Amino acid sequence: MKNGWEAVIGMEIHAQLATATKIFCGCAVQTGGEPNTNTCPVCLGLPGALPVLNRHVIDLAAKAALSLGLEIQETSIFARKNYFYPDLPKGYQISQYDKPFSANGKLTIMTSDRDEHGRVVEWRPMTIHIERMHLEEDAGKNVHEGLPDVDKYSYVDLNRAGTPLGEIVTSPDFRSSWQAYDYVNHVRRVLQWVGASDADMEKGNLRCEANVSVRKIGETTFNNKVELKNLNSVRFMQKAIEYEIERQIEAHEAGEFVRQETRLWDEKGNQTRIMRSKEDAHDYRYFPEPDLQPLAVTREFIDAVKSEMPELPDAMRDRFVESYGLSYADASQMVADKGLAAYYEKAAEASGNPRVSANFILSELTRELNNSSRTPSDSPVSAESLAELIRTLDRGEINNNQAKEVLVEMFAGGRSAGEVISNKGFVQVSDSGEIEKIVDQIIESNENQVKAFRGGNEKLFGFFVGQVMKASQGKANPKIVNEILKQKL
Ligand SMILES: [Zn+2]
Repeated sequence: MKNGWEAVIGMEIHAQLATATKIFCGCAVQTGGEPNTNTCPVCLGLPGALPVLNRHVIDLAAKAALSLGLEIQETSIFARKNYFYPDLPKGYQISQYDKPFSANGKLTIMTSDRDEHGRVVEWRPMTIHIERMHLEEDAGKNVHEGLPDVDKYSYVDLNRAGTPLGEIVTSPDFRSSWQAYDYVNHVRRVLQWVGASDADMEKGNLRCEANVSVRKIGETTFNNKVELKNLNSVRFMQKAIEYEIERQIEAHEAGEFVRQETRLWDEKGNQTRIMRSKEDAHDYRYFPEPDLQPLAVTREFIDAVKSEMPELPDAMRDRFVESYGLSYADASQMVADKGLAAYYEKAAEASGNPRVSANFILSELTRELNNSSRTPSDSPVSAESLAELIRTLDRGEINNNQAKEVLVEMFAGGRSAGEVISNKGFVQVSDSGEIEKIVDQIIESNENQVKAFRGGNEKLFGFFVGQVMKASQGKANPKIVNEILKQKL
């Protein structure tokens, strides 16, 4: 960022809560499918139809709120947000306004600047204030592509209408595009982790908007902000924010007026462009939804949800560093995926060697999983089988390179470590009697080198090791070979 300026960024995330049915009716939540088939009088907004709150939405919303450090409010009120748009059949959206489901969140994330290659400079903690997460129903979709006469008509698909959403709103706490990027990734991961949302931006079940303005460092008031919408990947979001910061600084420096407006990210043009100006801002005329009771949440309910919450990824990462001696980077990578973290923990416990388990999982195993598009839970090598391989390595029966080769073969053929090792003839000879015999032979048949070594040419030691290894066809345990050679020479 240009010297003397700072960015002020607030984030809004819409996360689809992963229920099977919609928030106020029994229609299935499904992506794809024939248009307008998952609909009923309630989500079509037909006169006289009444909404009934889906209990499972509250279970998932509670998990989401707790995983983001939010306080669940004892009473929240659904409210009508009035606006007219073809994909909103009732003419209003049921949302929450002045009494949201949860509020006052404090969330600590890890964030870092990036160097010019996009690489992390140094992770450090940052605490974000999340103002609220309220509940609402999604609208339908206007369809402008793939149907007859789309140049003349727009189509409406209401399958999505009534899908439950949690809208997560932060204070304008972020000062860089990478902080916003790290925040969205954090939110995605914890929502997936606790099972509250699939949080997949490509599928549209997590959508984010960024409110961006810039000001001179030291200023305490805010300049006009621009709302960035339709950001369908975290990376595009980061690029859009970055572009917008530069655009606004240039405008301010040139003495131009920065308008309050909504802009879109144009990936092809690598720039943001205007969608609408704030002059068209809606007055939503919120008022309490008369067809729904206030939502009351008891202490017992919150305690019950708390007791079912899994250990969150950041806590798990810190535990892996502390109890298993992993580096911060390795532990972070391990908790990037809940399945991987569970796999690792099993392997670490069963092998008794957490660090070597981590090395094998983060290199060979992850590579093989990626190449075959599998997840840790359907890996052909179970955590227990990997642990068996690591124990074999620790006993010195095979060396590290052999173990890697064995793991790849176990993965391809679904066989145990023992089977692959004996098929490959990898078993190391650790029997010192047998090794001693070979050492004796080598000493006998290399008299000149023995004399030279004993005369002070210590470099020759490597020569003897090489000869013994060769005579054993590479199977002798090098540690024992070294020990016996030292004794005999
Ligand atoms: Zn319905």
